[in-house]
Amino acid sequence: MAAAIAAARAGCSVTLLERQEKIGKKLLATGNGRCNLSNLDFQAVRDYRSRCAFRLPAFFEQFGVKETLRFFESCGLLLTDRNGYLYPRSMQAGAVLGALEEELDRNAVRIVCSCRVERIRRERFFYISAGAEEFCFDSLILACGTAAGLVPKNAADGFALVRELGLAVIPLMPALGALRCEGGFWKALAGVRCISQIELHVQTGIREKVWRENGELQLTDYGISGIPVFQCSRYAAAALRDGARVTAFLDFLPEYAPKQWETLCVRQFRLCQGKRVQTMAAGMVAQKTAKVLMKQCGLAAEDLVGEETKERIFALFGLMRRFPVTVIEANPISQAQVCAGGVSLDEVSDHLEAKKVPGLFLCGEMLDVDGRCGGYNLQWAWTSGVIAGRHAAEDDRT
Ligand SMILES: Cc1cc2nc3c(=O)[nH]c(=O)nc-3n(C[C@H](O)[C@H](O)[C@H](O)COP(=O)(O)OP(=O)(O)OC[C@H]3O[C@@H](n4cnc5c(N)ncnc54)[C@H](O)[C@@H]3O)c2cc1C
Repeated sequence: MAAAIAAARAGCSVTLLERQEKIGKKLLATGNGRCNLSNLDFQAVRDYRSRCAFRLPAFFEQFGVKETLRFFESCGLLLTDRNGYLYPRSMQAGAVLGALEEELDRNAVRIVCSCRVERIRRERFFYISAGAEEFCFDSLILACGTAAGLVPKNAADGFALVRELGLAVIPLMPALGALRCEGGFWKALAGVRCISQIELHVQTGIREKVWRENGELQLTDYGISGIPVFQCSRYAAAALRDGARVTAFLDFLPEYAPKQWETLCVRQFRLCQGKRVQTMAAGMVAQKTAKVLMKQCGLAAEDLVGEETKERIFALFGLMRRFPVTVIEANPISQAQVCAGGVSLDEVSDHLEAKKVPGLFLCGEMLDVDGRCGGYNLQWAWTSGVIAGRHAAEDDRT
């Protein structure tokens, strides 16, 4: 949509082909229906991953957050900033889609829905086959997205099209998703939400890599989820694919510095003498978490705080800060928010034109760029869409 608007504003006659019955369906699901469309706290190299990450600043210099704010303003959409996270003021994703649809209409973009592109032939022009229909264009922008978050029957199939055109595709992996973990206690933990720190350790031979993320952790009946897990899930997915060992250490009380924590544990042990361990523990972490951790330390519901249980209680305090879980699998692409991998940036110019197929442009999640959770993936969609649209328009006019 951003690409079509940019090309049409530059004076082109634009047609948008969409395989679903409506445009922008994924957009409606973003940000839990609120559409976190960008972020004021922005650093290309920190917030995005790509095999060609060094190329990224060049794209955001052409169209970054400031230009995105102006773009939506020009579409008549009021935005709001929540701790840097940008949303429509109404906090409804439908408002973003509505503004884009109006702008497509105002710029006379022709929209053809329920039109699945099946083949692209490059001769003097681009010939596009979609069912019984054939279209002919001077230039073409592919913005097919990926299968992330979609049931397989609606999965995007743009990669078959680009492969046929001879472009290299880096294998896709889920990014921004939940992680399945070992252990028989997950059902007992399901539903817990708590501000925590996750430390993800990836062990390959003697090499160990560590990622740390803070935020609201969600415990599910199969493992760990929530934004801090999403932020490091792509590394877990890649490591598991390569056969590495992946462990997550969960810290349920990350706000305490080590010295403060030591003092707190000693104080809790003293103040709670003779009381039930479970009552003390459930005042420190969620009750479900307390029960599972107690069991791991050999503490029963009726055990009391005292010299006899001291060693196990201090082991329990240790687990509250460093609960190790073995990650066995990343949730599949259909349950992730975005995919890592896609068409290599090596295949495109700084204008996002395919080097091997002049006149063909690519944008959005199809390219090998994935962002952190927090509006960065949609920012990439706007950035790459507008760049592709503007330059496809130049190409079209010459
Ligand atoms: C649940 C969920 C929540 C998310 N929340 C956020 C968020 O809050 N903030 C954020 O920044 N990102 C979020 N994302 C990620 C974001 O939605 C995507 O990165 C973004 O939509 C990618 O844009 P795109 O235009 O590349 O692809 P898409 O939005 O997927 O659009 C591609 C379009 O191409 C169509 N298409 C595919 N193949 C064909 C074909 N052969 N012929 C015709 N049409 C075709 C598809 O039907 C689709 O409409 C979320 C994703 C999910 C799944």
